[in-house]
Amino acid sequence: MLKRFIILFILLDNYLTQIPKKVLFRTTWKLQGKCKQCGICCQEIYLKINPRQLASRLFTKLAIAWISWIYDFKLLKVDWDNFYLVFTCKKRRPDGKCGDYGWRPNICRNYPLVDYFEEPKFLPGCGFKASLDG
Ligand code: SF4
Ligand code: SF4
Repeated sequence: MLKRFIILFILLDNYLTQIPKKVLFRTTWKLQGKCKQCGICCQEIYLKINPRQLASRLFTKLAIAWISWIYDFKLLKVDWDNFYLVFTCKKRRPDGKCGDYGWRPNICRNYPLVDYFEEPKFLPGCGFKASLDG
C-alpha cells in the first residue's frame, strides 16, 4: 500500500515532466509502431549512476535497496566501467508480458527513450521504430 502511494507521486511527476516534451518543446524524433510485449527490454534494465555516486558504497547500497523495493527489480550486476546499475524485473511473466502493467515504473512507461538530440535506439525485434518529425 505504501509502495503504491509513493508510486502515484512518481507517476504524477513523470506525467508533468512529459508535457513539455510532447506539447511545448517537441522532440525531433517521433516513435512509430507499437510494443509487441515481448519483454526483451525487461530482462536487463540499465540505470545510469554517476561516478561520484558509485564511489560512495553507502549511496550505491541505498540506491540498489530503494530501486529493488519500489519497483520489484533485482540487481544483476554493477557495471563499474560504464556506471550502470543493471537490474532485472521480478514482474516479468514467463511469456514476456508485464505482470503489473498498470503500476509499471516510469522507466518502462518512457521506453524506448526519445531524447532531444540522439536518434532513439531499439533492441533487436522491438516493435518500435523512429522517424524524424515533419
Ligand atoms: S523490446 Fe520493444 S516490443 Fe519488446 S517489450 Fe520492449 S518495448 Fe515492447
Ligand atoms: S514492471 Fe513490467 S514493463 Fe517494467 S520491467 Fe517489469 S515486467 Fe517490464
